[in-house]
Amino acid sequence: MVILDGKKTSLDIKNEIAEEVKSILNKGQRAPHLAAVIVGKDGASLTYVGSKVKACERVGFDSTLIKLDESIGEDELLDKVNELNNDDKIDGYIVQLPLPKHIDSQKILLAVDPKKDVDGFHPTNFGRMALNLPTFISATPHGIMELLKRYNVSTEGKNTIVIGRSDIVGKPISILMGLKTNPGNSTVTMAHSRTKNIESLIVQADIIISALGVPNFIKSSMVKDGAIVIDVGITRVKDNSEKGYKIVGDVDFENVSKKSSYITPVPGGVGPMTIAMLLKNTLLAYQNLSLS
Ligand code: NAP
Repeated sequence: MVILDGKKTSLDIKNEIAEEVKSILNKGQRAPHLAAVIVGKDGASLTYVGSKVKACERVGFDSTLIKLDESIGEDELLDKVNELNNDDKIDGYIVQLPLPKHIDSQKILLAVDPKKDVDGFHPTNFGRMALNLPTFISATPHGIMELLKRYNVSTEGKNTIVIGRSDIVGKPISILMGLKTNPGNSTVTMAHSRTKNIESLIVQADIIISALGVPNFIKSSMVKDGAIVIDVGITRVKDNSEKGYKIVGDVDFENVSKKSSYITPVPGGVGPMTIAMLLKNTLLAYQNLSLS
């Protein structure tokens, strides 16, 4: 069994990006610049955004964190988005989800300029991804594909089951795993909460990608020998540590790892890859801007 080490791989990617930034600066050009918008004070969201901003600093990017009050109106937030669209010094930006209930998230995401949409959530970028055209692939599915690529995991002709159909993970990774690419070229089943006999589908799969957010959902009895297991789940479970919680995935790692050929741990698997791919997308946005 091989552990797909997202922590190490993401560090490799960040080092590669830092080298690129150095050579950009040596040419006397400005550094790539990522902005992040966060609305409200949700603890998990603040942690995620904080890590993204810190990661920017580590690779030499400029970063701007825009913290907005929970009570901000939809029009005001749209104004902020337009301001970022028109700011030539910002190459890419993200609007951290979830947004407060009184704001229509789709309306906000649609207003983001696709050229700056480093999260890859805009329908233009999602569509380009589905057609295998150059685009910003959203960071989590992009991170999974990069991890498979860097470990030379063979996916061609294999049966993949993706559990979860969210716009940010399940749907895009289902599409990517079925594209005529390497990694890719697999035969994909997408399961969700209405799927019947899900266990019998999971047990037949060569590749299991779990993105539900239900701790210990994937048990050893559901996994065939030699399966490749990608655990996207991140759930905070209360414990007695100083932080008061620990992060757990969807997979019973201890037992499933004994049967699998490759497996991602949680933490240290898909999570760190997500941030690395966001940085990669920002570099891409910067390079596109420099070309135009
Ligand atoms: P989401 O929007 O809540 O989607 C969850 C999906 O799982 C839905 O499609 C849902 O089905 C399905 N589901 C829920 N319970 C199920 C069950 N018992 N059987 C079968 N399907 C079930 O979540 P998400 O945003 O995709 O995130 C999924 C997990 O990944 C979460 O733990 C999240 O924290 C984590 N995550 C991690 C990263 C990372 O960087 N590693 C990034 C993003 C998300 P329905 O559609 O029928 O409701």
